[in-house]
Amino acid sequence: MTALMTTFDDAELLAALCAIAGEDRVRAPRAADLSDDTEGAGLRGQAHAVVEPGTAEQVAEVVRWCYAHDVPITPRGAGTGYAGGAVPQGGVVLSTAGLTRIRSFDPALWRIEVEAGVLTGTLQRRAREEGLIYPVDPGSQESSTVGGNIATNAGGPHSFKHGVTRAWVTGLEAVLAPGELVRVGGPVRKDVAGYDLTSLLVGSEGTLGIVTAAWLRLIPAPAAAFPVAAVLPDARAGQEALEAVLVSGVVPSALEFLDAGALAAAPAPFLPSGGGFLVIAEADGTTEAEARASRAELVEALAGAEHVHAPEDLAGVLDLWRWRDGVGHAVSARHGGKLSEDIGVPMDRLAEAVEATVEIGARHGLDAVSWGHAGDGNVHATFLLDPSDAAQRERAATAAHELFTLAIELGGTVSGEHGVGLLKNGQLRRQWAPAAVAAHEAIKAALDPKGLLNPGKKLA
Ligand SMILES: Cc1cc2nc3c(=O)[nH]c(=O)nc-3n(C[C@H](O)[C@H](O)[C@H](O)COP(=O)(O)OP(=O)(O)OC[C@H]3O[C@@H](n4cnc5c(N)ncnc54)[C@H](O)[C@@H]3O)c2cc1C
Repeated sequence: MTALMTTFDDAELLAALCAIAGEDRVRAPRAADLSDDTEGAGLRGQAHAVVEPGTAEQVAEVVRWCYAHDVPITPRGAGTGYAGGAVPQGGVVLSTAGLTRIRSFDPALWRIEVEAGVLTGTLQRRAREEGLIYPVDPGSQESSTVGGNIATNAGGPHSFKHGVTRAWVTGLEAVLAPGELVRVGGPVRKDVAGYDLTSLLVGSEGTLGIVTAAWLRLIPAPAAAFPVAAVLPDARAGQEALEAVLVSGVVPSALEFLDAGALAAAPAPFLPSGGGFLVIAEADGTTEAEARASRAELVEALAGAEHVHAPEDLAGVLDLWRWRDGVGHAVSARHGGKLSEDIGVPMDRLAEAVEATVEIGARHGLDAVSWGHAGDGNVHATFLLDPSDAAQRERAATAAHELFTLAIELGGTVSGEHGVGLLKNGQLRRQWAPAAVAAHEAIKAALDPKGLLNPGKKLA
């Protein structure tokens, strides 16, 4: 129970939620409602009730009642978050599982309006049926929600060319404190009339408002895409290869990397074993011929590599990406668990970040590996551990703190992808000047004066 909860009792809360959303949409919290996919940290929260409103208006009513009665609200999508953002700190878990309608879809206008609980994969498939794509592709796309992606500003391999979630949201419907349903932006592609509240809500991790629906941009699907995988002897050579890709003038649709440790943990059947650093650059095109021409340019740019694997048929392409999707799980399997961070650094400091991650791990007696979105400088710097070993978990947490220091020293960020949630509370003030931190806190105070929207999260 948090200190905020003063003016209600459980029976009153449950009765109010049932009156708003209906008895079948209210329940006692289950274990799965109290945690997320945060790795190695064993985070478990507490809550008094879970409500799954079926409409945006019900979400507004729930927030209105909770705000009037000082009840904390934790918005929850699919709970795949990696930062503890959906781990409740008492009060009500507001699940978007009941908000799953596609409200409108105009393929000819390349736009769609979906509710927050729609799964990212469902959105992608619906777009694809009409020859379009929603190109944001987090590794969790089959299980995470559009609302969760918006709240964390999620990205994925194809964000290098297409940008992260924020680039695709033209408008939001959201509930703001103390329980008002508002629309900012919409099915318009340009809108500079006010402060950019849409962008402010994107990435706000449920601390400024609850997203109930979004207008999203779509684009025509490429006719073909061909990844080129190049093995380099080490991270420094890998850095040079990445820069050679950019100098080639081809805009890769994805630009990924794995270091030696990640390659050892997740050996690829189509690569020689023992590689020092892997670059994956993907070429796409509006015609297959264009994609093949760009692929040839990428192969040329990476010609200095020790080995180049450039599948030309669909099966080979799918094999490569399937293997890449499994890297995280393969790394976890090495010692049974991992603490995986998501620092971001300027792309030209990537090799330094990769090398320093291994050094930090070694200082703490932990194997460390990296992989991630090279073009975005987004490094999944990862310490391998046995999750049942408390001492290892503690050493990994200390190592992660050093990693954040490294990211800041390299001119980067403590989080390029997963957000602050509970896990990275207090890190932002190491990265930002005091005046910027004060602005961050002033925004929270202005939009959530009682501090009831996802309390305890995204603290600077
Ligand atoms: C296997 C795996 C792979 C992953 N790969 C990636 C990746 O490639 N890129 C990436 O960015 N992330 C990745 N993630 C992390 C995670 O999937 C993303 O952060 C995702 O966006 C979370 O969506 P969710 O629906 O599960 O949200 P949740 O985990 O339920 O919530 C995440 C945060 O958003 C808030 N929230 C959720 N819905 C709403 C809403 N409607 N309104 C306001 N706030 C809300 C929650 O309060 C919480 O703070 C991965 C996770 C897993 C398990």
